[in-house]
Amino acid sequence: MNRNFANFGIGHVNPPISDSAMYEFDTGAQMTEMFETGIAGRYLYGRHLSPSNHLLAEELAQLEGTESACVMATGMGAISCVVMQLCQTGDEIVASRTVYGGTYALFANLLPKFGIRTSFVNMNNLVEVQRSITDKTKIVYCETLSNPLLACPDLVALSKLCKAQGIKLVVDNTFTPIIVHPATLGADIVVHSLTKYINGMGDHLGGAVCASSEFIASLLDVNTGSSMLLGPTMDAQVSAAIRKNLQTLPIRVMQHSKNAITVSRKLQENGYPVVYPGLPSHPDHTRFSEIADPAFGCGAVFTFDCRDRETADLFMQELVRKGIGHLAVSLGFVQTLFSMPACSTSSEIPEEERDRMGLSTGFVRFSVGVEPDSELLANQILDAANKIIKSL
Ligand code: PLP
Repeated sequence: MNRNFANFGIGHVNPPISDSAMYEFDTGAQMTEMFETGIAGRYLYGRHLSPSNHLLAEELAQLEGTESACVMATGMGAISCVVMQLCQTGDEIVASRTVYGGTYALFANLLPKFGIRTSFVNMNNLVEVQRSITDKTKIVYCETLSNPLLACPDLVALSKLCKAQGIKLVVDNTFTPIIVHPATLGADIVVHSLTKYINGMGDHLGGAVCASSEFIASLLDVNTGSSMLLGPTMDAQVSAAIRKNLQTLPIRVMQHSKNAITVSRKLQENGYPVVYPGLPSHPDHTRFSEIADPAFGCGAVFTFDCRDRETADLFMQELVRKGIGHLAVSLGFVQTLFSMPACSTSSEIPEEERDRMGLSTGFVRFSVGVEPDSELLANQILDAANKIIKSL
């Protein structure tokens, strides 16, 4: 991602932040042309596109191997715009049962108000996916590694199934940026919450859609584009900050993954039921290994079931007492985070559905940070687990 910003004038190593909400023209004819067809290298209004958002989007398209991309204020903004662009009243979505709780709530509770219905399925069961597709299905939706269960669907097979029926495969790659490139495996549209690894600093929210130039242009169409008309525009100051943090993504992901495999191995060796795609015991370990770039490991997130909510709570309090990390939602932050998804980020999913997918109230999700000493981190987490969980 080495870029030369010489075209900005005075040899910046970081491009200047565009703090204009609107951009001026020399003539009315020029402005009309900009509105009608666009003019390369020119900007009109911040909600349409700004130089800072454009640069971040270009770098994200490069990261995901897509023709184009656009950025949004949040991950949910990106997901909502994609769905609203592809679906209309009467259409259907087939979605993985294990997706981020906010996505689940959007599909289950908000979209039905617009006449868009979702079937939730086990995305790892292609027969069930195929059976749920109807002639109204417009989208098959899943996450590369599902939040929080870390299931890894077969993206290549799903893509073939979708292509044969003219359905768009939309993949949320928030858990595995730089590790997996869903577009190269056949996904039509890749979405991200930039709030997580890509920014990594826990200080900004952001979202992105990476796809064909045609689809990105459709999101930004002045008459019919969901991003253009719903307006979840990222602030230029924020996109400049996220673009800078994107430069350290490779090295951060390597350290996250090194820490996560070290901690999860240690916990597993000591009898804890750890779920991490880097462990051979993970049900999708082989499939994930086939699509993941080995240089970047398997990411920061692992989970384990502490039996019940009270034990999970005591365990997390012990971690906080030891100064190991933060009892906080989110993931991909430079410091270690842990939370109980059933009572937080997946609480939107009804209890019966959570039971069906195996998400109990004692389930703890870790996102380990980039702490420099993996062994020390592993020993600290193991000590806390032994003190609280083994002793009960
Ligand atoms: N996708 C996944 C997998 C997530 O975990 C989240 C948030 O936790 C989102 C999307 C939504 O992102 P945001 O909070 O930036 O809107």
